[in-house]
Amino acid sequence: MALSQKLDSWYTDFGRTLPWRGIDNPYRIWLSEIILQQTRIEQGRDYYHRFVEAFPDVQALAAASEEQVLRLWQGLGYYSRARNMHAAAQYIVRELGGTFPSTYEGIARLKGVGRYTAAAVASFAFRLPHPVIDGNVYRFISRLYGIATPIATDAAYREFEALLLKHIDRRRPDRFNAALMDFGSLQCKPKPDCTACPFADECVALGTGKVDLLPVRMPKAQVKHRFFYYFHICWKEGDTTCTFMQRRQGHDIWRGLFEFPLLETEGAIPDDGLHARALDFLKQSFGITHAGLTISDEHRHQLTHRTIHARFIAAELPEEPPFHPSNSLRMTCQEIKNTPLPRLIDRYLHSL
Ligand code: SF4
Repeated sequence: MALSQKLDSWYTDFGRTLPWRGIDNPYRIWLSEIILQQTRIEQGRDYYHRFVEAFPDVQALAAASEEQVLRLWQGLGYYSRARNMHAAAQYIVRELGGTFPSTYEGIARLKGVGRYTAAAVASFAFRLPHPVIDGNVYRFISRLYGIATPIATDAAYREFEALLLKHIDRRRPDRFNAALMDFGSLQCKPKPDCTACPFADECVALGTGKVDLLPVRMPKAQVKHRFFYYFHICWKEGDTTCTFMQRRQGHDIWRGLFEFPLLETEGAIPDDGLHARALDFLKQSFGITHAGLTISDEHRHQLTHRTIHARFIAAELPEEPPFHPSNSLRMTCQEIKNTPLPRLIDRYLHSL
């Protein structure tokens, strides 16, 4: 039986029911695909519903402020996805008259859309025959055909795409792709149960004892360590507690999100010198000469190629500091609740 037929029959029995499946609304399909990049389906599902409710169409998303979009995105990480999605919505409204592009090339021109997402939207929304190739598909196909090309490279993409183009069901590429993704995710898992697999009799990896060796991956990039010291400076004004926040600029992580004033160092500051260093920072940047400090333990935050080692230094003051850097904004606790924050800061605030 052909690959597409076997997959189709497996999909009939075991395919997942998902809110963005079985629809042909390109905006919603695109939204789901952007959310699901680097995100588990269970978590992505909630965010998908929240976004669809807040921004039911591309016009609504385009009309939102970046802060609204980032706030709703909070907790998903990889904030460039949200920023690109917002920019793409504005491009569709401004340049394309609000009509979602209906060709693979047009979809691929949207900011933040790579080959995988373009293929997913083109096939699910417009039934165009472009195979989706994500990590699960690489795993399944590399095992089935015994392909040892290191995955997630240009060469591998071209090789897998050419192979899948021979098999894709041209009448129902949407269904073929959904089945392919689900099969890789649910059946051909990192530790699969090959006895229950409909491809067991033809799977090269199973036949040659290479299930654990495929797919082949490129060596991982080295993880960089960064050391952040955040200053949570608080004082009361009547019943309201105020603090300073800064909007992260440039092309670094978390651009556009708000965080406490930050001291970043090359390495960790030894515990016995941290109090003095913190007071020095507060004096230089805010004119604070006396403050009781509470210094947190390390909060470790893992990003793809970086580990953030963060400590929070809470300084309670009787009144507003004499001065502050121009990029520090005075905010109340209430205002912070409506501000997009990196998850690291959000978790810290919740822990208080
Ligand atoms: S036999 Fe095992 S390794 Fe091969 S495709 Fe099926 S689940 Fe994957």
